[in-house]
Formats: sequence, structure tokens, C-alpha cells
Amino acid sequence: MTTETAEPALICGKCGCALETGKVEVEYLGNRFPVELPRCPSCGLVFVPEDLALGKMLDVEQALEDK
Ligand SMILES: [Zn+2]
Repeated sequence: MTTETAEPALICGKCGCALETGKVEVEYLGNRFPVELPRCPSCGLVFVPEDLALGKMLDVEQALEDK
């Protein structure tokens, strides 16, 4: 047995702090959307996985077109 958690720890590339999941506002096409992303509690750096970013952009576009 190990003590590893399900989520791998993400470390801030700037200051080396462990990232904490928090609500972040993302702005896209003039609209703001609250999303939960890992961010650095020290310097505020937000980690956005590439696949998540692409998926979110697609979801946002579809939501706007449906409006
Ligand atoms: Zn940092």
C-alpha cells in the first residue's frame, strides 16, 4: 500500500508551491465562466491542461450558439 492520492500533486513552475484546486474565472468572447482549476496560492499561477482548455472552448462555443 502507498499513501499516494488519486490526483498527482501539481507544483508551480514559478515558486515551487503545491497547487490547490480553486474556482477561477475564465473569460472567453467577453463572457466570464467560473471553473475549478489547480492554481498556485502564492503567485496566482493557474494550471490549464491543454485537453481541458480545448474541451472547454468547444463547450463554450456550443452554449453561445444555442443561445
Ligand atoms: Zn507560484
